[in-house]
Amino acid sequence: MGASYLDYNATAPLRPEAREAMTAALAEVGNASSVHGFGRRARHKIEDAREAVAALVGAVPGQVIFTSGGTEANNMALRIARRGILASAGEHDSVLRAGAVSLALLRPDGVVDLARLAHLLDAEPGPDLVSVMLANNETGVIQPVAEAARLAHAGGALLHCDAVQAAGKLSIDMASLGADLISLSAHKLGGPQGAGALILGEDVVLEPLLRGGGQERRRRAGTENVAAIAGFGAAARAALRDLEAQQSVAELAALRDDLERQVCALAPDAVLHGAGAPRLPNTACFGVPGLAAETLVMALDLAGVAIGAGSACSSGKVAPSHVLLAMGASQGEAAEAIRVSLGWASGAEDIAHFISAWRACLERRRESKPMAV
Ligand code: PLP
Repeated sequence: MGASYLDYNATAPLRPEAREAMTAALAEVGNASSVHGFGRRARHKIEDAREAVAALVGAVPGQVIFTSGGTEANNMALRIARRGILASAGEHDSVLRAGAVSLALLRPDGVVDLARLAHLLDAEPGPDLVSVMLANNETGVIQPVAEAARLAHAGGALLHCDAVQAAGKLSIDMASLGADLISLSAHKLGGPQGAGALILGEDVVLEPLLRGGGQERRRRAGTENVAAIAGFGAAARAALRDLEAQQSVAELAALRDDLERQVCALAPDAVLHGAGAPRLPNTACFGVPGLAAETLVMALDLAGVAIGAGSACSSGKVAPSHVLLAMGASQGEAAEAIRVSLGWASGAEDIAHFISAWRACLERRRESKPMAV
């Protein structure tokens, strides 16, 4: 059996459309700021990508600032705050560590506690920026961003939404979401690593993080990474096409639900994190008492199945997931949680591969044998 890659929330395989666009861009020369034909062709690729990325979130191209990824977009967004930042406790580290952030707690199902958020917005002086992600990278739990935006606006704050994990998996309309800033990352939706975007609301003015040349309408200096941006655009277009066809989303949800059903049948004591809340169709986060996630990730890797444990964005980190702890999971439960995340190239054979390898680990635990195969 070949390898099964089930770690899309860490990074998704490059979509063929993105590979093609990048290969074509790499074969050409041209600085997008140059006025000659070479430069104009590079500029055209960037503007074409800008249209595709804007369409993914229901924005217009002028709202899109290309960045080096989701981390940069989040860091840039948080710079808008002057008085204070209020974030959900489940945010990615690139939000939680980008500034002094006060935290709104999560409910046990992983959804941000809106009553608590409203209460914290009432503080004096209140925050002027609220950051709530659209979907969590570890649990896939979808957050009530539109409601959070209403509360933020009523309290005189702007709303930033990290939509890095949601983009391409959920339909996003910036206006209905009520978000003033949205962060995206190319590699989570089948584009290249090292490209992302910050989408600005029409009236939002931002201090640049990088100063220098006049690129990105003076909002982000530095010669554009044309090939990566072209790949991002192609991936965004393909992801939107898949979303609009709806079939792929339903298929992913069916695969994920089937996986969870089999897990619960084999291990009735399995804990499914966030399963009571609305979730992305591609993510399953669960643990079984006595099966340490770290050991499981290694044992499954030896069996040719790649999954994540805790926050795979900072893989190698041993600390238990702050997201699961914020949901009230014990240290032990957090250390047992694995994340299986699917995407555009996943199929039933990957689920079967995972289940057969995972079942072997489960049986070894029952027999109290070491897990490594
Ligand atoms: N936000 C979330 C929710 C993520 O899962 C990630 C993952 O890495 C990031 C931000 C950071 O994005 P990037 O890897 O493009 O810096």
